[in-house]
Amino acid sequence: MKIPLCTFCLRTGVLCPRCESLVRSGQVTERDMEVMKVLLDLENQFPQLRDSEYVRCVESDRVLVVLLRGLRGISRSLLMKLNKVLEDKLGKMVRVVDVATSFREGIEQLVMPLAVLGVNVVWFPDGTSETVIRVAREARRSIFSPRELESLISAVFGTKVRVVVEG
Ligand SMILES: [Zn+2]
Repeated sequence: MKIPLCTFCLRTGVLCPRCESLVRSGQVTERDMEVMKVLLDLENQFPQLRDSEYVRCVESDRVLVVLLRGLRGISRSLLMKLNKVLEDKLGKMVRVVDVATSFREGIEQLVMPLAVLGVNVVWFPDGTSETVIRVAREARRSIFSPRELESLISAVFGTKVRVVVEG
């Protein structure tokens, strides 16, 4: 996996001047370093990680969203398994999102296991618009609240959305 720090620096914790400045400036956080270490250790179990690139993570009280680029050919079930392994290691709900895919696919990865029914832009008479994301209610338990998803989506994609649960 391609990471913003040198693998050697990350492994040893002794940072070269370049890595040191990335950490000091806040471009790479302690949490990023923790997540990158865990991901590097999972490359054998999840070979798709090898060709991917670590971007950053976004965190709410309950959920840690790990943004990677280029997770080619990973199936939905394998991605869910990767989330589960990361949850066990990081002690928090985790969703891995590939930022190199479309907005719709990114949303689908973020809200798993909920199914996305639609992503629509609604235009108002005054010329403003709103992106509405419709997700299917999950029968057994409520994984995310709509408000939680809205704030996660806006933190990850920088887009203000409204989430509607249907079904
Ligand atoms: Zn370095």
